[in-house]
Amino acid sequence: MLKNTNIVKMANQALVLDSIKKNKKITTEEIINQTRLSRTTVLTMMKELSQQKLIEKRGNVRQSVGRQPILYSLSRDVYYAIGIDIDVAPIYMAISRLDGTIAYSRQWDVSENADGREIKDSIIEHVSKAFVEAKVSRDKIIGMGIGLPGVMNLQQNIAEKISRIRGWENYDIAKELGDVFDFPIYVRNDTHLLGHMEIESENENMLYILHRSGIGMAPIINGEVYEGIFGNAGYIGHTRIGAQGRICNCGLKDCLEVYCSKRSIEKSYEEKTGSHLGYDALVLAAKNGDLDACDIFRKAGNYFGIGITNAIKTYDILNVVIGDLRCSEDHIFFQSIQESVAENSVNFSVKQPTVRLSSHKKDEYGMGACQFVLEKFFEQPKFHTNISENGGEWVETM
Ligand SMILES: [Zn+2]
Repeated sequence: MLKNTNIVKMANQALVLDSIKKNKKITTEEIINQTRLSRTTVLTMMKELSQQKLIEKRGNVRQSVGRQPILYSLSRDVYYAIGIDIDVAPIYMAISRLDGTIAYSRQWDVSENADGREIKDSIIEHVSKAFVEAKVSRDKIIGMGIGLPGVMNLQQNIAEKISRIRGWENYDIAKELGDVFDFPIYVRNDTHLLGHMEIESENENMLYILHRSGIGMAPIINGEVYEGIFGNAGYIGHTRIGAQGRICNCGLKDCLEVYCSKRSIEKSYEEKTGSHLGYDALVLAAKNGDLDACDIFRKAGNYFGIGITNAIKTYDILNVVIGDLRCSEDHIFFQSIQESVAENSVNFSVKQPTVRLSSHKKDEYGMGACQFVLEKFFEQPKFHTNISENGGEWVETM
């Protein structure tokens, strides 16, 4: 429990910081208007935030007459967040500035059979290299977010299982990395973290769907990713669309992803033609008219559309964005997904669902985790009052 004065100060500081963050560049006068805090309080907070190097002066407002008020913004090159997106393989990494802009990115491969320890060692190696290349010292890092394609347990900050990573059973990668780096490390579902990149307003309602070797989803409700109780909301890759067919690597039959993930598309082509092509090569083959590839993408798109429509109906959210599909909107795969969603959502709602592709590119994939870390850093303190016979007291519940 904190003293009342400290709590009020924290809340005021969060309000001022939030105002600067939302406006990118802002004058003291505008902060006073927006936060409705007193001038003295705002000036005190601004002084403290400047001393902590969280904010800095960024030019003046140009006026023809009178004083030219100073503009303030979040400091650009003082503190940083690290984001890691593990899509075995590759692994994507980004370093972002406090204002959410990208400062550095890299990606690397690990072997298909890499286990948790090898992945952890590769993260230590590449983050250490990044510190040198980006000229960022580790004491300037406010935290690291790691996106994992597995069954999460947020209470323990771990992924309990990741079927695609050998021997991953309750492996505590955050603790292992925490022994090397002394900043906070957050472990989350990879799709949930990438979903943060798509949020543009506080009113955003969207189903962000990630198409990889598996399939994941981040339900975005009122501008926030809904994580679920344990961090597994939107686990649509392993929802079943049948009962008697292909066996999934989770042990069940007919999971959505055995019909339309990247890995299953490669497998279907190999079964049909006897030759193995990677997903990107298959996208190109279909574009160039390869009939077998076209047929496989048409069928995969149909199944994917069924899975997407099930999610649309579950959440009553009609705005769908697909990430990492790696084809254009005129490709047969995307066309087939759209047709399937239209067909399966007939008579569901007065409005047709819309499906579009995410515009984010590979070198940004680590940025979703960075944005999550920034959100944690700027999180406003939450309080409730605890009234007893001795009077009220403030309790921090963050
Ligand atoms: Zn499954």
